[in-house]
Amino acid sequence: MAAISLQQVRKFYDNGFHAVRDFSLDIGDGEFVVFVGPSGCGKSTTLRMIAGLEDISDGTLRIGGTVVNDLQPKERDIAMVFQSYALYPHMTVRQNMGFALKLDGVPKAAVAQRVDEAARMLQLDHLLERRPKELSGGQRQRVALGRAIVRKPQAFLMDEPLSNLDAKLRVEMRASILKLHRQLGVTTVYVTHDQVEAMTMGDRIVVMKGGEIQQVASPMELYERPVNVFVGGFIGSPAMSFLDGELRDGCVVGDGYALRLPAAMADRVAAGLAMNGGRAVKLGLRPEILSLDRAAGEPLAAVVDVVEPLGAETIVTLRVGGGTVVARLGGHARLEPEQALTLYLDTARTHVFDAATEANIG
Ligand code: ATP
Repeated sequence: MAAISLQQVRKFYDNGFHAVRDFSLDIGDGEFVVFVGPSGCGKSTTLRMIAGLEDISDGTLRIGGTVVNDLQPKERDIAMVFQSYALYPHMTVRQNMGFALKLDGVPKAAVAQRVDEAARMLQLDHLLERRPKELSGGQRQRVALGRAIVRKPQAFLMDEPLSNLDAKLRVEMRASILKLHRQLGVTTVYVTHDQVEAMTMGDRIVVMKGGEIQQVASPMELYERPVNVFVGGFIGSPAMSFLDGELRDGCVVGDGYALRLPAAMADRVAAGLAMNGGRAVKLGLRPEILSLDRAAGEPLAAVVDVVEPLGAETIVTLRVGGGTVVARLGGHARLEPEQALTLYLDTARTHVFDAATEANIG
């Protein structure tokens, strides 16, 4: 097992494209870290640099304290799991899992023992003599994981390993990977574009956009204290809603609404805005802070647009002036499109972003 440290790592591709900018991060020994962000944000490139599959244009990469910038992938003692399982079609599961060990000259009996051990962990024992084409997608991905485990590497690097699986299997495999991580305690870096996968799996999550780290935090911290509009909108489902407004006399005022902030929060927002001399803000509202219960706080007049009953809860999209908010209401909320109503919310639980810098100043 090993810590992984990236200091001001950058990647310029040959065409001059700057795919990763100044990426600095210390991943602890045994930690499970998830890189998440929209397509093209540089998460795979960063993972591939750690693996040694891409050159590092600038900066320093250490694995287990050793600078590995110029080491070949096989000298880095890491195992990679890809979205495409990359299994050898003509080999059995047992042969696929043991192949790398055999190449390394590990004695036959030891290979068999390590493959059996990994197969037990992944519930593949009964499939060891089958070939990949005789397996389901989930079983193939288990074999790919098994192949990584048997090598007992210092770290696992996983690039969207569950993307080819259907939704139900993805949830099952998420649990399997986390269980493996608990059992083995091997440092793991996991790339996904799916924020739910990131939230449910990571000890820490690295949110990326445009080749840059936006925020590094635990799942709850990201959810509760997003540093900017991008992180606020990216993490959470249904997504955070944003209303444009201005700070005026302790209230956020916008098209069709005025909400009083708690005094300390209004002071923070005023101080944050003063740094840039603006007054415009974006108010960020999580769906669960909106309620039909008067006791919930400040009133917000809205008109129902779309109602999505999901059984235990109802997701409602509403218009507030020219803006839109999404509320997560109880399963029994009976609402009709175009119905005018009043929502209530605790403004202490809103997020206030500087509209100019998009930084969270609330
Ligand atoms: P995805 O989820 O779509 O895989 P990603 O966040 O993993 O996205 P990367 O694959 O790291 O993104 O790519 C980052 C950026 O670098 C993208 O804009 C991509 O087009 C660009 N890129 C990737 N490989 C190359 C290359 N070989 N040459 C030039 N540009 C590249």
